[in-house]
Amino acid sequence: MRKDTSLIHLGRDHGDNPTSVNPPVMRASTILFPTLEAYEEAGARKYTNTLRYGRHGTSTSFALQEAMTKLEGGYGSCVLPSGLAAIASVLTAFAKPGSHLLVCDTVYGPTRAFCDGHLRSIGVEVTYFAAGICDGIAELIRPNSCAIYCEAPGSCTFEMQDIPAISKAARAAGIPVLHDNTWATPYYFDSFAKGVDVSIHAATKYIVGHSDAMLGIVVCNEATWQTVRGVVGAFGYAASADDCYLALRGLRTLGLRLQRHQESALKLASWLEGHEAVARVLHPGLPSNAGHAIWKRDFTGASGLFGVVLKTGDRAAATAFANSLEHFGIGSSWGGYESLVTLPQPTRTIEPVSPGGVLVRLHVGLEDPEDLIEDLDRGLALLLDRSAKQAG
Ligand SMILES: *Cc1c(COP(=O)(O)O)cnc(C)c1O
Repeated sequence: MRKDTSLIHLGRDHGDNPTSVNPPVMRASTILFPTLEAYEEAGARKYTNTLRYGRHGTSTSFALQEAMTKLEGGYGSCVLPSGLAAIASVLTAFAKPGSHLLVCDTVYGPTRAFCDGHLRSIGVEVTYFAAGICDGIAELIRPNSCAIYCEAPGSCTFEMQDIPAISKAARAAGIPVLHDNTWATPYYFDSFAKGVDVSIHAATKYIVGHSDAMLGIVVCNEATWQTVRGVVGAFGYAASADDCYLALRGLRTLGLRLQRHQESALKLASWLEGHEAVARVLHPGLPSNAGHAIWKRDFTGASGLFGVVLKTGDRAAATAFANSLEHFGIGSSWGGYESLVTLPQPTRTIEPVSPGGVLVRLHVGLEDPEDLIEDLDRGLALLLDRSAKQAG
């Protein structure tokens, strides 16, 4: 099955009995068994998508887990109550006191905060590396290195990482590559085929796709599965059956939505690149982007989130620009059907961010892209006007 067909069929049980198209929401704490023997037998089959107790999941989360595992080509997956819970659990599974962790400098802010806060406080050494490091990563691996954490493209600045090259060095050292695949989703990046060992998703974003649920999903290969599942189980994480249902429903239209997000975002990105108020557009799908060749080689598409560096360094002017937009909501998160704008200020310790202008992050939703371009055009005209008045 190709991906578009997989998205329709995965996680749906076509049994012989009449049934709804979507798997039902099975809410449960207690699961009832006909006999004590059957109950105890289920207990022996921990973490195998077997009904036993609500915390270990129900038929709804099992359906989502099976769909995600097959879609991405992993061995097993688990659901958690948020993307950040997924990241924190995976890092905790590998980073022990006294070990050393390699983390890409361009990771999602809360991931960096977890590394600098909790992990350092329990005695994990954390080294950040430049997104463009490629096989240079081998020089940073130490005898006590426990894992390499990647996120491609990078949060807010969208630098690519050469994941196959990083994976080659990691394999040689016998350590896993952990990757936040939220931006591309399994639809546009085949984590396991590119050498990733654990793929992490903020399903909150494109998989749920409608900005109405929080959910994390971790997909593991066989070598990492027990380690990760054990930690998630030990912490007692359970994701709600209702949220798993929404994620499963979101998967059905993921391909179609992403195709539209990609097309519209590229249209806006190219248009912005030619605008006189814009210094640079940060989108790996643009040929002008430093990461374009790697993106083209490793990814099969791009989603709807990218960055724009304005020529102005005046934050008040950029704030007025964001406030002036009619079709771009202001708020956290992305991956829903609606367009969003923020002015992020990401932390970097290895490579500084966008010297010069203010950084704008756009999420391009499913609106008509011409309306979005007209909206940005109006906003940027006001911005230029304001700069001209200040100069004159
Ligand atoms: C939003 C986000 C997360 C965290 O997901 P939540 O569900 O909000 O906890 C993780 N990684 C990336 C890249 C994100 O954008």
